[in-house]
Amino acid sequence: MTSLVLLNGCLRVDDNPLLSQARGKAAALVIIDQQAYFGRQYGLFRSNLLRLRAHLQAIQHLAQQLAQRQIGLIIRFGDTHSQLCELALKLGAEQLLASEPTAPDEYRALQHLPASVKLQLIDGNSLLSQQLRPDLATLSDRFTSFRKKLEPLLLVTAAEPEHTRAANWLSPDQVAGLSQQSVLQQWLGQTAATSWREGCWDEGSAHARLHYFIWQGQHILHYKDSRNALCGTDYASFFSTPLSLGTLSVRRCWQQIEQFEQQVKANDSTYWLKFELLWREFFRWQMRKYQARWFSKNGIAGPADFSSPRLTATQKQRFAAWCAGDTGVPFIDANMQLLNQTGLMSNRGRQNAASYLMYDLELDWRLGAAYFEQRLLDYDCASNWGNWAYIAGVGNSEARAFNPIKQALWYDPNADFVRQKLPQISAAGKAAHRPAPHARLLPQWRSWLDEL
Ligand SMILES: Cc1cc2nc3c(=O)[nH]c(=O)nc-3n(C[C@H](O)[C@H](O)[C@H](O)COP(=O)(O)OP(=O)(O)OC[C@H]3O[C@@H](n4cnc5c(N)ncnc54)[C@H](O)[C@@H]3O)c2cc1C
Repeated sequence: MTSLVLLNGCLRVDDNPLLSQARGKAAALVIIDQQAYFGRQYGLFRSNLLRLRAHLQAIQHLAQQLAQRQIGLIIRFGDTHSQLCELALKLGAEQLLASEPTAPDEYRALQHLPASVKLQLIDGNSLLSQQLRPDLATLSDRFTSFRKKLEPLLLVTAAEPEHTRAANWLSPDQVAGLSQQSVLQQWLGQTAATSWREGCWDEGSAHARLHYFIWQGQHILHYKDSRNALCGTDYASFFSTPLSLGTLSVRRCWQQIEQFEQQVKANDSTYWLKFELLWREFFRWQMRKYQARWFSKNGIAGPADFSSPRLTATQKQRFAAWCAGDTGVPFIDANMQLLNQTGLMSNRGRQNAASYLMYDLELDWRLGAAYFEQRLLDYDCASNWGNWAYIAGVGNSEARAFNPIKQALWYDPNADFVRQKLPQISAAGKAAHRPAPHARLLPQWRSWLDEL
């Protein structure tokens, strides 16, 4: 039997069940989906060159790792579904092995394959093993119930051993004629590095980061206190980008944390990193449960409304200012500029930027989610849309509005972050947080201006 093994979402050799569970004659494949990179939603591109570059580098690294094991990697660009059908016919494949998706687009791409091709989905990126797989019909929509039910039972399965030779893989020479490797080189040449974090997200770099954050720097010991910082290198794990690309296994992260807890020290901070990984897990299962409902204006909370946001000229200006980091509220603008420059933003920054867009600027939350989708290096459909809907009160929580002045004073008391990102601000100390006269602010936050 010939199997096509689609490695999208699992761009790694370590703990990769797709590689270890393939049998018979097998061809390894990665498809860069045209729609995910060059498609649009609400008039916005769905990605940017920084993320494309990170993805291409991860693929290039994987191809090298596989080649060392005499495994060829077919690299294709285009519509995932059409590419799969074409290659299945060309190779006479009877089976397609793929990572179990979370997002509706990914599910769609795997539907309506040629009748001769049997689809096998393997969940390569979840903490919950097959035995703990939740029943979507009865899955709780509240994180706390989800966590309380599953956490005590959670036994993260041992990482998959590297049995990649169990299958008779097509070699690099055998796949050369099927792969568009040269396009990858060409694009990598064109998408110049623009971030200091450039190149840090392939499997090798992901493991180096994992080792550094947990073992070498032991930053994990202070994570609970540091995680609300707004910028820096070690205040949080920065695992999100390799997790979203699949260059890092979430089970490997979990195991490393537990090993550190057993061998070095366990404290509230080491637990808290696992707690955050459970949030990721929660949103993945929520996305599988409600699928396209996450893109409805009313989220999972009300009647489905997939109509595109309609903006007046003034609303268009407000949205453009938010995207550019030019709202006049320094705390929001500094965070948005960080996002635009690096593709990343702290969790605290994301919560505030999201809240400001929907409550202070009174714009449809889906526009903000779509802009984050375009800009984020660690974009993950479930975590992004799930968190946006959460703050909007149409997901797994009541509405949550953040007071940007209070938050600025709490998390950036000397305004160092704001001044670093917005050098045009000359005011000293906390006065640097003073919004411009034209800036919009909910009336209930205005009394906080006296604190500045
Ligand atoms: C509006 C909004 C949009 C977001 N969009 C994304 C996104 O597209 N992709 C993404 O990975 N995360 C997203 N998050 C969650 C969170 O902000 C990022 O995971 C985190 O900031 C990434 O940095 P880190 O890896 O250093 O996180 P750490 O603080 O070190 O956390 C460790 C890991 O836990 C998980 N995690 C932490 N917080 C959350 C959370 N709130 N929800 C889900 N998982 C979490 C991530 O996998 C993260 O890598 C979003 C949050 C908000 C409020």
